[in-house]
Amino acid sequence: MATAWQALGSEVVLLARGSRLLPHLEPFAGELVAERLREAGADLRFGVTVSSAARTGGEVRLALSDGGRLTADEILFATGRAPRTGDLGLETVGLPPGEWLTTDDTLTVTAVPGGWLHAAGDVNRRALLTHQGKYQARIAGAVIAARACGTPLDSATSPALSSTTRATGAGPARSSSPAAAPSSASPSPARAWPSSCTPVTVAITGEIPVERLWHAVPPFPTISEVWLRLLETYRYQRARL
Ligand SMILES: Cc1cc2nc3c(=O)[nH]c(=O)nc-3n(C[C@H](O)[C@H](O)[C@H](O)COP(=O)(O)OP(=O)(O)OC[C@H]3O[C@@H](n4cnc5c(N)ncnc54)[C@H](O)[C@@H]3O)c2cc1C
Repeated sequence: MATAWQALGSEVVLLARGSRLLPHLEPFAGELVAERLREAGADLRFGVTVSSAARTGGEVRLALSDGGRLTADEILFATGRAPRTGDLGLETVGLPPGEWLTTDDTLTVTAVPGGWLHAAGDVNRRALLTHQGKYQARIAGAVIAARACGTPLDSATSPALSSTTRATGAGPARSSSPAAAPSSASPSPARAWPSSCTPVTVAITGEIPVERLWHAVPPFPTISEVWLRLLETYRYQRARL
């Protein structure tokens, strides 16, 4: 919000309790954002909290924990998000109400035995973004359906293994997963959005299987979501075959 208000022409003073911005990301990310904010004229102060605040007339006067004082037109508190799980009855399954729901990679809540409780979206605190929540919902749906059908979930190996052709004497020929579109294909969206070609170029030259492309999550709201629509169309058409 500091970036937004500064860009709108406000004179921004950003007070941070910690020693850096965006503490949940790599340090360089916070440093870059801080650098840009300073370049734009924002005043960034770290390790400081508000001791008191009072509005007198049109202004707000702040006393700070480091002894400093500020006068501002408005104060915006950005205190983060809290899970709204206080009244869901979590205590009936042995979980503390009002807490985040910790999940494994199948979006199954780890603290509940039996693997029947799933949590997708902000509530699991993995990535508090719309497109990540939608991605998690797809994963959770696939996991629930697979378990209901008694089919095993995808397994992961290290190093990662995949095959597209028969290895000599190594069993039946099979394609483990459909490959991305052949490089000779000329997708029409390429003409409309040349820069959008890059992801599909990487996918083709890297021979990335379509199944794996599901995990390249396009941010919301961006034009990159066109690739999500194409994958959904592909899945729909394949299901009808
Ligand atoms: C100001 C702001 C801007 C944001 N901008 C972006 C952005 O540009 N791009 C982006 O990717 N993300 C953005 N986000 C994050 C994004 O909004 C969330 O990550 C996303 O909405 C999470 O989806 P969700 O379904 O997990 O939770 P929510 O969208 O919060 O949905 C939870 C739903 O459950 C309902 N609910 C709660 N308790 C109960 C109950 N007991 N019974 C029934 N229903 C209940 C709620 O009413 C709500 O409708 C923004 C968030 C904020 C706060």
